[in-house]
Amino acid sequence: MSTEDILNYDVLVVGAGGAGLRAAIEAAASGLKVGLICKSLLGKAHTVMAEGGVAAALSNVDDRDNWKVHFADTMRGGQYVNNWRMAELHAKEAPDRVRELEAWGAVFDRTADGRILQRNFGGHRYPRLAHVGDRTGLELIRTLQDRAVHLGIDAHMEFTVVSILTADGRACGVLGYGRERGVFQAFGASALVLATGGVGRAFKITSNSWEGTGDGHSLAYHAGAELMDMEFVQFHPTGMIWPPSVQGILVTEGVRGEGGILLNSEGRRFMFDDVPEAYRTQTADDEEEGWRYTQGDKNARRPPELLTRDHVARCIMREVKAGRGSPHGGVFLDIAWIKKKLPNAEEHIKRKLPSMYHQFKQLADIDITKEPMEVGPTTHYIMGGIRVNADTQMSTVPGLFAAGECAAGINGANRLGGNSLSDLLVFGKRAGEHAAAFAGQNARVAIDQKQVRAGIEGALRPFDQPQSGGENPYGIQSDLQQMMQNLVGIVRTEREMCDALDGLAGLKTRASHAAVSGHREYNPGWHTALDLRHLLTVSEAITRSALERKESRGGHFREDFPQKDPSYGTFNIVSRKGTDGSMEVARVPIPQMPAELKQVIEEQK
Ligand SMILES: Cc1cc2nc3c(=O)[nH]c(=O)nc-3n(C[C@H](O)[C@H](O)[C@H](O)COP(=O)(O)OP(=O)(O)OC[C@H]3O[C@@H](n4cnc5c(N)ncnc54)[C@H](O)[C@@H]3O)c2cc1C
Repeated sequence: MSTEDILNYDVLVVGAGGAGLRAAIEAAASGLKVGLICKSLLGKAHTVMAEGGVAAALSNVDDRDNWKVHFADTMRGGQYVNNWRMAELHAKEAPDRVRELEAWGAVFDRTADGRILQRNFGGHRYPRLAHVGDRTGLELIRTLQDRAVHLGIDAHMEFTVVSILTADGRACGVLGYGRERGVFQAFGASALVLATGGVGRAFKITSNSWEGTGDGHSLAYHAGAELMDMEFVQFHPTGMIWPPSVQGILVTEGVRGEGGILLNSEGRRFMFDDVPEAYRTQTADDEEEGWRYTQGDKNARRPPELLTRDHVARCIMREVKAGRGSPHGGVFLDIAWIKKKLPNAEEHIKRKLPSMYHQFKQLADIDITKEPMEVGPTTHYIMGGIRVNADTQMSTVPGLFAAGECAAGINGANRLGGNSLSDLLVFGKRAGEHAAAFAGQNARVAIDQKQVRAGIEGALRPFDQPQSGGENPYGIQSDLQQMMQNLVGIVRTEREMCDALDGLAGLKTRASHAAVSGHREYNPGWHTALDLRHLLTVSEAITRSALERKESRGGHFREDFPQKDPSYGTFNIVSRKGTDGSMEVARVPIPQMPAELKQVIEEQK
């Protein structure tokens, strides 16, 4: 590829979900030339699937809410291994980011007096999630996309980045190919923002879209950046479990926010059986109080169904293991019961949860206004990601920034629902702003043609494998997903994770022989072979970090170390590429929290 063929930008953003769009908007606002690359069509990024809402202490529904309560809730939810500075910035800036979105045209649901309506969600003390029915992600993406297009950002759609190009340890561009034609293209940039989303496709049962293959995590890692908190994977308690073809599809926490309850096969509301000590004073004593909370009674406390996701998921697993599960291996989630309380319950459910109503009606032939749903845990989100500076979002590689789900820090051991959409807005903006500043201070450097050629050769290798000895990439991907689900899933042990590491070594060898046939135009086998490399990298980082954390905390549960160990609350686990190319894990101390933030946490206990 000659130098003339390289497309150059001041700031290049990889990913067009909420984080990428928000970063691109901010960078373009400073007058720079901004490019945006995404694997799917604009408007189709995973963010579009977000349902329940965006968390921000607007205090429109409960005037006791403010940034301090949101900060304390986020830290408690993350079990205090969060990057406290990110949690602070997020809680303080989320309200402005939501109001700004409204000013740009987002039409949120309204309170009776015309302000943005907010709903209850797990782990949030007060109703805090601004929402648009249960289609909040769609509105967020639509609004941001509109804004980005009008700012004149160049979008390169259906384009997959396969490697980050570096010069003297600094990120200076990317190499990728157009999925439609299979033609390679290199891009140069003064600053690069990764906003590539999550890794859910490393597991068999997941709510994530096909794009969630951990590309940004892996691209950054191979470019020399550090990954952090990779052991913390969130298994959302309520995914569909039946029929098998829809297994894993999310059932929003909004159902429980609107009064939905969890029942076992005996019809018992088992969530009252086990309330963690840290949440006891904030949890309803009985069903009546829980119901009043969901209806906005400020004197009531939250029902136990709205405890954090890690806890609810484990309670569901406990019921299933004890033989009190539903026919297809989950439990029952019932919103229909509210007809005992509300005269217009059917209409209310359809208005507040339209997507859930249609999802169950069309995919499972269940009318959720009349009958309970069957639900079980599904791999949903990764708290871990690229280690970044809290204020600037720059990774440990100069010029390489990251925001959104592919970055780590704000959520610690467990993310509260709604905190991702606000994370995308707050840190997407910050990443765009600081990438633009970096680009202003650092001129573009020349692209190394050797790196480009090596990247193209590596990406084309699956076409060069002999068809006889080579292996179908789908089979390898499926074995990886099954193995991660079984051995590094919701309940972990040392023995199983060591087996997983052995398994990963075997899968890596098999992946290096992955063979595809046909041409490069829209070749899904080829795309899968390339995704596999990322999935293997993130799976190894998850497994090695999970082995290192010999305790249970948040989304990470070790059957062999079932308790939380306070000594593990003082560091994060970081994975990086060693000089010999193998993955190293290290413990990195968490900086001391300033006294004023400690006091905020104390006040909110
Ligand atoms: C069903 C569902 C409901 C959810 N509901 C909520 C909710 O109500 N509230 C909340 O806060 N969170 C919710 N979440 C979580 C939240 O939606 C995600 O964490 C968030 O949208 C991730 O946004 P992102 O911008 O980081 O990445 P994404 O939206 O995942 O976008 C990633 C982008 O990167 C691109 N990309 C990836 N790899 C490459 C590559 N190699 N080359 C080029 N481009 C690439 C993709 O094409 C895409 O454009 C939900 C998640 C799911 C699955």
